[in-house]
Amino acid sequence: MHEMGIVLHLAKTLDQTAEENKLTAIGRVVLQVGEVSGIMTELFTDAWDYFKVRHPVLKDSTLVLETIPAVTWCDHCKQTYETVKYGKTCPYCGSGETWLLRGNECVIKEIEAE
Ligand SMILES: [Zn+2]
Repeated sequence: MHEMGIVLHLAKTLDQTAEENKLTAIGRVVLQVGEVSGIMTELFTDAWDYFKVRHPVLKDSTLVLETIPAVTWCDHCKQTYETVKYGKTCPYCGSGETWLLRGNECVIKEIEAE
């Protein structure tokens, strides 16, 4: 399960952050998830609940998920467009020479200590 691996990595990162900053509890974690990253947010929340029990520092934490809209760049007409709506073909010029600018990432935006 893809989500489990990401949450495992996230829990480790948070454990480390807590240790480095001498935090005893983490309150709110804001995670940005790209629209086309393929992450199922529902599974993600389940995985989070699983790890919360196993990481004391995360016991009372809340996970907030934010979506990063996917944007594609067209190399042909030098414009950007919504990836989800148009896919790999540029809606302005019909070119297929397009690149995903953002929307495939999964990043920690904010960590709040208790
Ligand atoms: Zn174009």
